[in-house]
Amino acid sequence: MISKPLPLQELNLIKQMSNTPVMRQWLSTFNSEGPFLIAGPCSAETEEQVLESAHLLKNTPTQVMRAGIWKPRTRPGNFEGAGVKALKWLQKAKAETGLLMATEVANPQHVEVALHHDIDILWIGARTTVSPFNVQEIAEVLKGTDKIVLVKNPVNPDLELWLGAVERLFTQNIKNLGVIHRGFSSYKENTYRNIPEWQIAIDLQNRYPDLPLLLDPSHIAGRRDLIFDLCQTALDLNYDGLMIETHPNPDKAWSDAQQQITPQRLIEISENLQVREKGSESSNFQKTLTTLREQVDALDEEIMDTLIKRMDLAKEFGQIKKQYNVSILQNERWNAVLKKMITRGQANGLSEDFILRIFKAVHQESIEHQKNILHKK
Ligand code: PEP
Ligand code: MN
Repeated sequence: MISKPLPLQELNLIKQMSNTPVMRQWLSTFNSEGPFLIAGPCSAETEEQVLESAHLLKNTPTQVMRAGIWKPRTRPGNFEGAGVKALKWLQKAKAETGLLMATEVANPQHVEVALHHDIDILWIGARTTVSPFNVQEIAEVLKGTDKIVLVKNPVNPDLELWLGAVERLFTQNIKNLGVIHRGFSSYKENTYRNIPEWQIAIDLQNRYPDLPLLLDPSHIAGRRDLIFDLCQTALDLNYDGLMIETHPNPDKAWSDAQQQITPQRLIEISENLQVREKGSESSNFQKTLTTLREQVDALDEEIMDTLIKRMDLAKEFGQIKKQYNVSILQNERWNAVLKKMITRGQANGLSEDFILRIFKAVHQESIEHQKNILHKK
């Protein structure tokens, strides 16, 4: 199927944004050995807690302190943030420690007071990114700012919506931009509070390689024991930085207590993270890589040949089912096939989730081919 060509205006925007190293210039002003690091409490709770956090973070590799002032809580009746007065606490924390400050903004009023208090980095939260109206209003009050603006992914796994928010800012001449991957919500119970869906962030890097990409492992994990692994995965996928919720006394935090870590744990995590090179000139590495890539290419060709043959068979199924007027879906057979594949996959170290996704996709495509035949007059 040929997709509709993009309107010229949109094409120009994409071209501009995908050739804009200017978007990542702000990152190079934070030189450090490790990834760019934003850390701090989920919420600014009291002046003492903000100041204590800042002084503790000062002794960690943190470059920017975060603290939410207006908290978007899922259900009412919880702590909804200290509000404007907390901006003064952040200013004081910055004056005492020299750490730059970051906070979430969700509407034009938030932006105005945050700018008035000279907050260094503003981020747009997941529940705001979903609304193009809100993002547009925020972009318009920020027009031309040289502040750094970071956009969290929307709560739903929609790359276009995420990029759309960044494009709205870019079009208002806001060039110090970046994105924060905080995972995607799901109705089903899951290991994670928000499922990572790494592929979305990989697609984003391919579309806009100059857009700095940060990971927020805290809101993905929802629990502190998963944070290290998530951070390491991010570094293995060439992320530029991390935003980690850190609290002087995590268990007593007024929001997101289970996912916050202590400044001491933040130091341990930073020390244990392996920063990898994006490539290597070593001839041994290059030779091995080439050999492995050749094998992978050959296997990918085989997978394609098999899929093509598999769909040719689907057409034959379609013919015979049409001839005998039999329905396409044969539940018992399909469940038996799935079960066999899951067992075989698991015996060879493949996850059930992976097998299910692959075979459901193959089955769906096979149904489409059969439908084309059965529905043809
Ligand atoms: C937060 O950073 O505390 C927050 C509310 O995040 P998100 O928008 O990712 O839910
Ligand atoms: Mn939080």
